[in-house]
Parts: sequence; C-alpha cells; structure tokens
Amino acid sequence: MMRNLVVVGSGVMGRGIAYVSAVGGYRTTLVDIKEEQLLHAEREIAGYLQKGIERQKLTADQYEEARGNFHYSTNLSIAVSDADFVIEAVPEDRELKRSVFQVLDAHAPESCCFATNTSTMSPTEIGSYTKRPHKVIAMHFFNPVHKMPLIEIIKGLETDEETVEAVREAARAMGKETVIINEFPGFVTSRISALVGNEAFFMLQEGLGTPEDIDKAIKLGLNYPMGPFELGDLVGLDTRLNNLKYLHEKLGDKYRPAPLLEQYVKAGRLGRKTGRGVYEY
Ligand code: NAD
Repeated sequence: MMRNLVVVGSGVMGRGIAYVSAVGGYRTTLVDIKEEQLLHAEREIAGYLQKGIERQKLTADQYEEARGNFHYSTNLSIAVSDADFVIEAVPEDRELKRSVFQVLDAHAPESCCFATNTSTMSPTEIGSYTKRPHKVIAMHFFNPVHKMPLIEIIKGLETDEETVEAVREAARAMGKETVIINEFPGFVTSRISALVGNEAFFMLQEGLGTPEDIDKAIKLGLNYPMGPFELGDLVGLDTRLNNLKYLHEKLGDKYRPAPLLEQYVKAGRLGRKTGRGVYEY
C-alpha cells in the first residue's frame, strides 16, 4: 500500500497532480528548485481546496485531511528518501529529465516507482537513466489536472506489471479513468493535439483568419470544448513547441513546427503563465 507520494516540479501540471494526490489520501510532497514557484503553487492549491469545499466536491473532513497531506520542499534528495511513488513534472527537456531521474534513482528507496508526466518522451529512454527501468512508466495527466478525468498510462519496454498496477492504484485513488498504451514516439492524445495546435499556427501565419475566428470555427464547427489557441495558451506555447520538436525528430515532417509558433516562443509569449500568448491575460 503506497503512502508517500512526491511530485517533482510545481508548475502548471505539478501543482494539479499534487492536489489530486493529497485529496486522494497520499502524504504528498511537492518539490521545486524555485522557492517562489512553490509559494505560487501553495496559493493556487489553497484556492482549489477552497473551491472544492464551496462547490461541495469535498467534505469538511476531506478538506482537513487533504490540507494535512501537503508538504513542500526544495531538496529533492531528502524529499524522496522515504517515497513510495514519485511523479516527475519538470519541463520537457531531455537533459533536465535525465538529471532529475539520476537524483531520484540515487536517493529513493529501491521499492519506489517513478512516473514521468512527459507529453511525448519515451518512458523506455527515461527508464534507462536509472538502474530500475522496470519501475519507470509514463503517467500523462491533462490540464487542468483537477478537472480532466483521464490519465494516459504508457508502458516502456522494461516496465513490469507491478509498476502498472501501482499506477492504476494511484489513478483510482485520484479519481481518474485510465487507458494503458504501449510506447511508440508520442501518445494518442499528444500526437493529435500537437497536430491540431500546429495547424492552427500555420493557418494564422497564412492569414486565414483571426485567432478568435479560428478558435470559434473549431469549437462550434467541430465541437471541441476549447479552440486550439485557447488550449495552446493554457498548455504553454513553449511546452507545445518542445513536444512538436520531439515528434518532428521521431516521426518526420508532419510535425514540423510552424515558424510563427517558434517566433511566439522566442518573444517570450508563452501563454497564460507569462500573461501573454496568442491572447492577452
Ligand atoms: P512548467 O514549466 O509549468 O513547470 C515546471 C516546473 O519544474 C517549474 O516550476 C520549474 O521551476 C520546475 N523545475 C525545473 N527544474 C527542476 C528540477 N531540477 N527539480 C525540481 N523542479 C524543477 O511545466 P509544465 O507545463 O507543468 O510541464 C511539466 C511536464 O508535464 C512536461 O514534461 C510537459 O511536457 C508535461 N505536460 C504538460 C502539460 C501542460 O498542459 N502544460 C500537459 C501534460 C503534460
């Protein structure tokens, strides 16, 4: 029975994952290298808890239990020293993920499983950064984590059944549905959403329409809950670009990033998190 869960990276995704983990009953430690990110995450999580109680999604007991389950740390090696399960949510950068997994492997107990929230990278490759590739898996959450019902679980070549079961157990405790898929570059949802998001930037670059009209066409004409630019700004345009670069390298030209998307990222227009992306916030 798992008890101690550590989430590495307290950005857009990590704070949501920590929230569903603590509400799901795990003692949850959220780790970041930046103190101010942790403070920001703490405030946002307090807001989720408050809304949970106002909207009667949480009882007073669940609220108190969840609050008591939270811990925050800037010291990864100490935070994972008694972890049963670690979920990594640092930026989509291969060298960064490698260095984080090396620290996890050196300091977490031998029995601890590692999940990565990567949108595209190979769990087999990430497993190879450790001496326990059978205990490494991808657990792909969706944004915003506390609202989206799915976790896409991706097994690497070496992932064993015990690890798959540990992830299923965590997903159940977090109140999420799962699909289990096999690794191939990219996952079901990230491949489709990268294509749609990139095509929207090509259309904007070609002058087909305004961002508002392109979003409206996709929402009302294709019945998507959000337009591709609204979603891109929520996901982060840098994250979207990194995903596209990875898929382009692995799967070829259909994923070539739109030059306009690269320009937005160069300009620091990354979406909601910087106050400005395709739209202003
Ligand atoms: P983000 O940039 O919002 O947050 C990343 C956090 O990691 C930052 O707070 C940063 O300070 C921290 N960090 C950096 N290096 C660290 C280290 N060595 N140790 C601890 N913390 C460190 O990123 P995000 O959007 O939350 O994405 C995280 C991962 O989740 C990426 O792999 C991304 O592809 C994936 N993902 C993102 C989305 C999305 O909608 N944004 C959806 C699914 C999956």
